[in-house]
Amino acid sequence: MSSGRAQLSLIHQALAERAEARLSDAALRLLVEQTGEAVLLMDATGRVLAFNSEAGSRFRIPPPERIESHGNLPGCVWVRLDEGGGVLAVSPLSRALAGEVVRDERWGLRRPDGTRVVLEGSVFPVGQEPGAKPAGVLLRAREVMEEPRLDAMRAARLLAEAGALLAAELENEERVEPLLRLLVPTLADAGVFFLGPGGEAVRAAAAVHAEPERHVLLVDMLRRYPPDPLDPRGLPALFLTGRTERVAELSEAHVEALTRDAEHARLFGLLGVTRYLGVPLVARGRVIGALALFRSEGAPAFGDEEERVAEELARRAALSLDNARLLREAREAVRLRDEFLGIASHELKTPLTPLHLKVQLLQKQVDVLAAHGKPVSAERVSETLDVVQRQVRKLTSLVDNLLDVSRITAGRLKLELEEMDLASVAAEILYRFAPSAAQLHCSLEMHAPVPVLGRWDRLRLEQVVTNLLSNALKYGAGQPVRLTVEADGRTARLTVEDGGIGISAQDLPRIFERFERAVSDRHYGGLGLGLYITRQIVEAFGGTVRATSALGQGSTFVLELPRGDIPDEWLSVPGAPEPVP
Ligand code: ADP
Repeated sequence: MSSGRAQLSLIHQALAERAEARLSDAALRLLVEQTGEAVLLMDATGRVLAFNSEAGSRFRIPPPERIESHGNLPGCVWVRLDEGGGVLAVSPLSRALAGEVVRDERWGLRRPDGTRVVLEGSVFPVGQEPGAKPAGVLLRAREVMEEPRLDAMRAARLLAEAGALLAAELENEERVEPLLRLLVPTLADAGVFFLGPGGEAVRAAAAVHAEPERHVLLVDMLRRYPPDPLDPRGLPALFLTGRTERVAELSEAHVEALTRDAEHARLFGLLGVTRYLGVPLVARGRVIGALALFRSEGAPAFGDEEERVAEELARRAALSLDNARLLREAREAVRLRDEFLGIASHELKTPLTPLHLKVQLLQKQVDVLAAHGKPVSAERVSETLDVVQRQVRKLTSLVDNLLDVSRITAGRLKLELEEMDLASVAAEILYRFAPSAAQLHCSLEMHAPVPVLGRWDRLRLEQVVTNLLSNALKYGAGQPVRLTVEADGRTARLTVEDGGIGISAQDLPRIFERFERAVSDRHYGGLGLGLYITRQIVEAFGGTVRATSALGQGSTFVLELPRGDIPDEWLSVPGAPEPVP
């Protein structure tokens, strides 16, 4: 009996203990639910023993059964909170599983839906026997507001530092690289400065990635895929729109738009950037460049305030770059002007010297002869006057050229159109050059089988042909010069070909510019204005002039002029009527 009672009391005790255990279990669960913190208990094998609803809201996942060995909850990734924002090498859960007490830390967490939170908390190893691994870990955490990467103070400091950099006397390219280094990694994890106002080729003037290996990758990618203004892919679209672009998460379509082919996209992928902020550099209403900023996977997306700071910075950079360019252009213009004044005075003085000497000599002869009561021979006077006249003609043409340039600059080039035959005009000019060609032992050939009628300004047309022919003789090295006139429908074409010194490919594009020359003034005199004036006149006629040449291979200048408002019958040559005189 006594044993029966003892058994009964044991059962009672066991029941009481079970009830107690249930109570404490329930109480514990209640406590876990009520803490207001996310709580997670898992054993050393990764089995989840507790996961409260707060944890469900923070991680945005249903209670998981297991957590894999690297300590990432299903679909979630632990990320760093520093500027790189990359994936955490060792998760806080793994650290506690290894025995570390992780106390009061902050971690970033990327959730399955792509959003990011910052959690603050601790992870404790539990059930740890001395010298052994813990039996499990307990995580307690709560969400905290993420500090903006760029707070007001940092933004102000950034703009001040940028201002100091921009104010320093740096030349263009040098100026953007340090500027970019200010922004990376403070504001972004990677950045590229694209520069290239309309006309000039767009180029990546500076590129920086916060991570050294990825920096090398970025620079290499830009070298292999340099921006091509003719192919808008690979360039921020804001070059066309002039508007800021902000993308929280670069999709495949975005990457496709930013890259040119699959390899480009692959390289871009290796950069590990997903957030994008592109701001235009606008100066005097023109997009002169763009600043493309990127943030790594896991980093917060760019915010409104950050966009404002980037825009302000781009505005200041654009202004400063534009000023630097204006200054450079102004300096270049002054340099060209000074050079021109030097050449112009030399050129104007050259005819004066023989003129002066000849007149002086004649004066002396007149004096000597007069002293002997003899008359001066008409032959001598005439010879002197010839020289005087030649040099005065040279001076007149130089001064005329200078006047033309100032007229063209002031937009006062007036054309008086009348009907004429280009072939006859050309023949007449060629005839005028006959004596100087003979002196140079250079033969002049003309090929103009039929009249080419059109409406042009006679004097200006003569000037153009004169410029091309005089250059052909001057730079023609005594080789034959050939002039061709032909018509092609409503276009008249005049070609001047010489076999002279030629022009290098490098110099060709600039010889039609003002004061530009491709020869040294020690060997060939000249102001570098003839072709400039020629082009201006030809363009005023609505035509074109171009040159093909190679150094030492002679040159060909081709003039194409619209024949103007002429009757259709004139187009069918021969048989075209003579123009009305
Ligand atoms: P200038 O002859 O006074 O220098 P131009 O404007 O007529 O000025 O020509 C500009 C430059 O173009 C010349 O300085 C010369 O270098 C080059 N050039 C022009 N015509 C020829 C030619 N027929 N052959 C070689 N070079 C030429």
